[in-house]
Amino acid sequence: MSSPNVSTDVLRTLHRIHRQLSDLNGRLQRGPKRIEAAQSHEQHREAQLAEAEQAARASRMASDAKQVQLKGGEDKVRELKLKLNTAASNREYQALKDQMAAQEMTNSVLADEILEGLEKLDEFQARIAEAKENLEKARQNGEAICAEVRQQEPLIRTDLTRLQSELAECEAALPIEIKEHYLRVIRQKGEDALAAVENQYCSGCNQHVPLNVCAEMMMGHPMFCRTCGRMLYMPEEGTANPAE
Ligand SMILES: [Zn+2]
Repeated sequence: MSSPNVSTDVLRTLHRIHRQLSDLNGRLQRGPKRIEAAQSHEQHREAQLAEAEQAARASRMASDAKQVQLKGGEDKVRELKLKLNTAASNREYQALKDQMAAQEMTNSVLADEILEGLEKLDEFQARIAEAKENLEKARQNGEAICAEVRQQEPLIRTDLTRLQSELAECEAALPIEIKEHYLRVIRQKGEDALAAVENQYCSGCNQHVPLNVCAEMMMGHPMFCRTCGRMLYMPEEGTANPAE
């Protein structure tokens, strides 16, 4: 046989390294996404607080305007009362009385509305307090995530560097004849470029691996799955049985 030989150990290790690399890269990429999500949650909480404060402000302004209106109405009643004393006729007196009654009714409605507004103000204050609490929680959560990501990143990078050099070492052990093919599959599939053969099945795509392929592998010849193209290797337990 002129096929190049490749050790099962090397392939097994390569697969382990590629899986770990992919896991670490995933964690590295998730870091900024977690921060981004926390920041957008914080912004959402900020907007909720601003909204609650704005609603309280609008309600207070409406209430203030009604206070002014009520004061004007009360002045008007006092004015009408004075006019009653100087009424020239019964008709004028009655008209002033009617006007006063109408004004008092308006004032009473305003006073009720002002009271309602004051009750609402309490609700608004409670909403603002809740929004502030939520914002504070979101800020603390964001800071914790930031700190965690910042703390983990250098550790992940150190692991990546160590794995990269382990990978280079391992790849150097691959026969030159299959290295190009291996690199191409790695580029296409990443960590899924390799698969163990378990009980004559490719663990990548679950398709049957013919006996003659298993036999070649047992002799240390590099083989690829005919269905999914993964580079095959024997698992540590050596569960696959080649042809006799
Ligand atoms: Zn396969």
